[in-house]
Amino acid sequence: MIQKGNFLLLELSEFRSWLQKQKVTRSIKGLQVHHTGAPNYTTRKMVNGIAQQDHFKCLEGMRDFHINTNKWKATGQHLTLFEDGKVGVSLDRDLNMTPACIYNNNAGYVGIEIIGCFDKGVDTMTTIQREATVHLYAALCEKFYVPVNTDKIVYHAWYSASGTKLGDYLPGRSSKACPGTAFFGDGNTVAAANKNFIPQVKAELDRLRSNTPSATPIEIKPKDDEPMTDAEKQQMATLEKTVKQQADWIKAEKAKANMECPSWAKPAYDYYKDYISDTTGSYDFWRQLVINYRKDNGIKVSK
Ligand SMILES: [Zn+2]
Repeated sequence: MIQKGNFLLLELSEFRSWLQKQKVTRSIKGLQVHHTGAPNYTTRKMVNGIAQQDHFKCLEGMRDFHINTNKWKATGQHLTLFEDGKVGVSLDRDLNMTPACIYNNNAGYVGIEIIGCFDKGVDTMTTIQREATVHLYAALCEKFYVPVNTDKIVYHAWYSASGTKLGDYLPGRSSKACPGTAFFGDGNTVAAANKNFIPQVKAELDRLRSNTPSATPIEIKPKDDEPMTDAEKQQMATLEKTVKQQADWIKAEKAKANMECPSWAKPAYDYYKDYISDTTGSYDFWRQLVINYRKDNGIKVSK
């Protein structure tokens, strides 16, 4: 969880517990579904599925547009869902405030923007964002007791520009195609929503309520640049110690390969020195010399 400027950035795995702690006194009757259109995967500078643009830069960009161009008092949406499953929380649009997302139809709703343009032929939602979308809506339904159906989870496209509830996407009458003509791979109609999106949110909500672990865990893998845990530090210390011990052993073995006469072999060396051309030898050489010396002088070892 990172806070910077006007936003809080949550890992998807942090979202549900964060949400459960929020004190929301406003009555919530439903959830809106939007795509951002722009920003999208292109403006996020996606390379091999990873956006190069900073999350906070993207969030502040939207806020700036909402305040300075749209002349709204704050960021329009409460929550922004990124292509990598991270969730941006608008600190200037508290969950107790009404969002500014669907003209005349914001009271009692939570405004959620999904980063991307999910119109046909534009962005294809990443797998993680798809799973994150399902989880995020399920967690919101759990928190606010929102029934999982197309009356309560509504697409922007089901409203006209003047705020009339059309009840479905009607090209030419709908204010926008949002959340996209290919949203969730199915489209932006009520039938499309009932095909995969709504059933998957229902299944995820059941899973959350029964506390069963996710088949595909939503926990984000730790990044390489994250600090080591205590267990990892311990492992690293043990490994360093082993490497040091091995280095010492190698050094000692090397020293034994060509050593000056050790004190315990001194009498043997003195006895044989006229037959030895140099003053150094291996550990085994000095041992053998001592054995020969004892043999020559009738010195038996007591056992
Ligand atoms: Zn929208």
